[in-house]
Amino acid sequence: MKVGETIYLDHQATTPVDPRVFVKMAAAFTNAFGNPHASEHVIGWRATEAIAAAARQVASLVGADPDEVIFTSGATEANNLALLGLADYAERSGRHRVLLSAIEHKSVLAAGRVLAQRHGLEVAVIEVDRQGRVDEAALAAQLDGDVLLVSIMAVNNEIGTIQAVDRIGALARAAGALVHCDAAQAPCAIDIGDLAHHADLISLSSHKIYGPGGIGALVVHRGVQPCLTPLIHGGGQQNGLRSGTLPLPLCVGFGAAAELLSGTSAREERDRVRACRDLFVETLLAEGCEAVSNGPDTRLRHPGNANLLLRSVTAADLLAALQPTLAASSGSACASGIPEPSHVLRAIGLTSEEADCSIRFSLGRSTTADEAVQAARIVSAAVERLSSGPLRATL
Ligand code: PMP
Repeated sequence: MKVGETIYLDHQATTPVDPRVFVKMAAAFTNAFGNPHASEHVIGWRATEAIAAAARQVASLVGADPDEVIFTSGATEANNLALLGLADYAERSGRHRVLLSAIEHKSVLAAGRVLAQRHGLEVAVIEVDRQGRVDEAALAAQLDGDVLLVSIMAVNNEIGTIQAVDRIGALARAAGALVHCDAAQAPCAIDIGDLAHHADLISLSSHKIYGPGGIGALVVHRGVQPCLTPLIHGGGQQNGLRSGTLPLPLCVGFGAAAELLSGTSAREERDRVRACRDLFVETLLAEGCEAVSNGPDTRLRHPGNANLLLRSVTAADLLAALQPTLAASSGSACASGIPEPSHVLRAIGLTSEEADCSIRFSLGRSTTADEAVQAARIVSAAVERLSSGPLRATL
């Protein structure tokens, strides 16, 4: 996809709203403006039905039931609710340890720090290998009757690693722990139609799946809902777990986006995106660019993700030189502006200097094969220009 003159290769930061989603949202903005919690008139009932339909679509994406969907403002809030919402239950259950992988999103890691500092829980980090896969033996060694929660993301946002959530979930449950899975990046990468069978709490984000920003969900197994304490108090909407009037057009858009990623057409889309991603990397190498892939091999990687170490230039210099022709990102977009090397790249064994010279290109639904080739040529030319100039990195 080109936005004006810019090739957009930053789909893991955010995705453009799919036009089919937008049409449904436009109808919701104009025709179904009611408050879904207004139970005394027909306009409210229609809004309630639209929300119920969206909950069904989101639930079906992960194999859950509609009453298990709690809409939030996004995956950051969902992750906060999953972790901090269990703090009181830690007291009641007598379990005081939480295990997180080293490459979780910052919203999980930061919530973990709050659990440790304000609630006195013991939070341990599980290391990953060079591919970003959770060390299952290390996890098993940490699991005991004191573990309340294991939080493992399904697909990593920087290096695209696909985790074995089924096996990890089974290990955690065998020890009596709850399982949280941050699946914000998963729907575009893999089929997660049975994820609710392996995880008790699942975080989703609409703007990562071609839906609108400002909406996401925490899908919570019915039996686990009583364990959760809300973070937002008020009118008691959504079983009292997340008060606030639901933003109907956003819920409708999120539901429509989720539906587009359920089923066979999603598989075809992943294959097409994978082919474009492979073409991008092959063209880059064919152009003579010295790029090394960070993270997993293709089998275990998000089909749209290429995280490349380009030794001769820093990511910051290259990204600046690529403006306005190409949009990509260094590390995760959420961390941009914070001048520290990516914790994910460090966790898989890169040095800080190598992390600084790594770029994430993320292709998506709207990327064409032509753009993949064009982008590779643009990157290669920019790397060559920078490597021979004063901005050369000293790796
Ligand atoms: N988890 C992961 C894996 C993500 O990639 C992101 C977005 N970068 C989030 C959580 C946060 O999602 P949101 O922007 O919806 O708050």
